[in-house]
Amino acid sequence: MTAKILDGKQLAQKTREALAARLRAAAERGAPRPGLATMLVGDDPASHVYVRNKRKACEEVGIRSFHLELPASARQDEVLAAIARFNADPQVHGILLQLPLPKGLDAEPCLRAIAPEKDVDGFHPWNVGQLFRGERCFVPCTPAGVMRLLDHAGVDPRGKNALVVGRSQIVGLPVSRLLLGRDATVTIAHSRSRDLAELVGRAEILVAAVGRAEMIRGEWIRPGAVVIDVGINRVEKDGATKLVGDVEFAGACERAAAITPVPGGVGPMTIAMLLENTAQAAGL
Ligand code: NDP
Repeated sequence: MTAKILDGKQLAQKTREALAARLRAAAERGAPRPGLATMLVGDDPASHVYVRNKRKACEEVGIRSFHLELPASARQDEVLAAIARFNADPQVHGILLQLPLPKGLDAEPCLRAIAPEKDVDGFHPWNVGQLFRGERCFVPCTPAGVMRLLDHAGVDPRGKNALVVGRSQIVGLPVSRLLLGRDATVTIAHSRSRDLAELVGRAEILVAAVGRAEMIRGEWIRPGAVVIDVGINRVEKDGATKLVGDVEFAGACERAAAITPVPGGVGPMTIAMLLENTAQAAGL
């Protein structure tokens, strides 16, 4: 079997075009332009790239982007004060605090300080609680992207054995809850799980969110499974840096029915879902 490639880049592009059209129509009706505030603390190079991409994507669909950079030496109260200003600003509908924060700053109180109705990342405890109660909320962007990819591929999770590898607040846990909400039989594996190969071998839907290059071997995959690889790992190969997922792609392609590539799978969908959440925050 040669797996169908689930092209997240293409789906994200379509999603963004549809959103741009929706926002243009809303603007013609006189609706205010949605605004997203991005906050970047410190000088982590990867975070700078991520935030730049998010801001560019905002502008392309007609979302106004507000941006604040604070030095790595910023104090906790300065970050909290900046969040309070964005909370109070009616032009800002969504607030995104880029993680990780520099050493010495505690992300948790900062995430709790973001007004839940502007929490487009879906990390505030109120949104987390709503998600786990199965009620309306901002769904975290990467898990939302995973579900959109499955839907677009025509994969109905109902009754299927789904394995989520990873139990982080950002990816593993929310994606598990979303799959459960769609009636999958969900297993969550983590660093203490025994016999991962056996668990993988039973999964009809596999979501890998670990952060370890190609740790899930192709030969473990159940024939016909749908594989969503969230992992982004930088590896050195032949003197160049390459991005690979958590799943051994070439081997998995021979067994899976469908698989997301890395890059070009879940990553672009994450940004598209952020844009949709910002439109939702603006009531559009
Ligand atoms: P975390 O480091 O927060 O979580 C990793 C999870 O993997 C933990 O639950 C951990 O278990 C589990 N784990 C670690 N080792 C093993 C193992 N040997 N077997 C089984 N499980 C293991 O990572 P994130 O959830 O934040 O991110 C996961 C990956 O997804 C990363 O590569 C990250 O870069 C990528 N990512 C991609 C995004 C995208 O847009 N495509 C967005 C966000 C993340 P335990 O809880 O026991 O420690």
